[in-house]
Amino acid sequence: KVRVRFAPSPTGGLHLGGVRTVLFNYLFAKHHGGEFVLRIEDTDQTRYVEGAEEYIMECLDWCGLKPDESPVAGGPFVPYRQSERKPMYLEYAEKLLSAGHAYYAFDTPEQLDAKRKEIPNFQYGQAFRNEMVNSLTLTDVEVKEYLERGVPHVIRIKMPANETISFTDMIRGEVSFDTTLVDDKVLLKADGMPTYHLAVVVDDYLMKISHAFRGEEWLPSAPVHLLLWKYLGWEAEMPEWAHLPLILKPEGNGKLSKRDGDRLGFPVYAMNWTDPKTGDLTRGFRELGFLPQAFVNMLAMLGWNDGTEQEIFTMDELIEKFSMERVSKAGAKFDFEKAKWFNAEWIKRSEVEGLRLMVEEVLEKNSITVTDQDYLDKVIALVKDRCVLLTDFWPQASFFFRRPAELDISAVKPKWNDDKTTFFEHLLTKIAASPNWNATDLENDFKVLAEEKAIKVGELMLPFRIMLVGGKFGPAVFDIAALIGKEETAERVNKFLT
Ligand code: GLU
Repeated sequence: KVRVRFAPSPTGGLHLGGVRTVLFNYLFAKHHGGEFVLRIEDTDQTRYVEGAEEYIMECLDWCGLKPDESPVAGGPFVPYRQSERKPMYLEYAEKLLSAGHAYYAFDTPEQLDAKRKEIPNFQYGQAFRNEMVNSLTLTDVEVKEYLERGVPHVIRIKMPANETISFTDMIRGEVSFDTTLVDDKVLLKADGMPTYHLAVVVDDYLMKISHAFRGEEWLPSAPVHLLLWKYLGWEAEMPEWAHLPLILKPEGNGKLSKRDGDRLGFPVYAMNWTDPKTGDLTRGFRELGFLPQAFVNMLAMLGWNDGTEQEIFTMDELIEKFSMERVSKAGAKFDFEKAKWFNAEWIKRSEVEGLRLMVEEVLEKNSITVTDQDYLDKVIALVKDRCVLLTDFWPQASFFFRRPAELDISAVKPKWNDDKTTFFEHLLTKIAASPNWNATDLENDFKVLAEEKAIKVGELMLPFRIMLVGGKFGPAVFDIAALIGKEETAERVNKFLT
């Protein structure tokens, strides 16, 4: 049975790379008819940030990546928050201790600092563990006495010397490590909380995880996790791992960071995130005006493709086509222009009903409350092909909801003359008398009248547009007039003439 997990630490907003990790987990699980678990890895109390867990849930919700098991949904392996599983980890740490694969370390922060100063690139491990205060250097009696006295201590893994540890990564193939180069990682901290290393192994085991996909930055920790699994002597196979490639800066030189977003003016978070301590706001794709479908589609293509030229995929298609074999080993460069292209394509392809709520929200932010839904739907249908971001619905459609505040007079003035004034005056009369109100009839009347007055239609269209819209943009001008209505069209023409 395929069971995967997304295991974020609630330390802040979700970066693009994080959401892509969720997405690949989700797609893999759903492709195989498996389960997708959300586990909150909050054992590092010093990095815990208020609100981050809620943010993560909301983000998954927005992206349509619903976990089958989670702290909120529950599931057969509750609790799904590691801080609530604290007692479980101790048992395994003790097992490792008694088997001689882990040891107590009593070094004070001062002792550790002193050692770090003395030895450049100090690593607590083979080379120096014998010089430190731990259960390998103290006598049994001393250790017992330290523990009884409650001397603060951690439990560390005892990395073996000169062993080669390897595993087969689903993306990278065979990967090997020399254990001598890996330090004795802390497994259980002085506060009794496990570190990531112990907790991830124990929980992947207890939660029966079959495949674990995580960021490439975790690859160096893999030997520790492999050894822990082996030392704990579990029957079950270790989950199969895939270490996902990084999302790179647009220039390709290194990992995309929040700073790149600030530098180049694009978001790197899924949704707006306000740091509760500093009040700093990091902008997100959602608030910028991305459709979740476009955001997800764009992320899927960062490091994956189905082997064809196809770029636009629905979630169902992604689920059907996704495979780890087609995830590239190399990092994927983030390209904001391309991201916007995905969004424009998705807006274009979306049905009006699918956009309605979001457009309403954009309008409401601009103090427009829509009362006539049919009207709104027609507006959306007319302008959606012109919008790259959902927020573009405001500049592209505001004139449907209120008269343009300013008219770009400079666009018509140089060529304006009395003949044109007369034309529009007559147009007003014609409009008033016309029994029908639709784009075709209006266009006809307009053209016939232009011919009568011997003015080129082309010279009249732009002024008409400026009168209705305010500027040189928007859909076909007769469609606009037809939609805003006869009276409103007349009003706007009138206002321009007087
Ligand atoms: N808690 C780790 C993180 O925040 C999870 C890594 C993993 O998926 O194993 O990145």
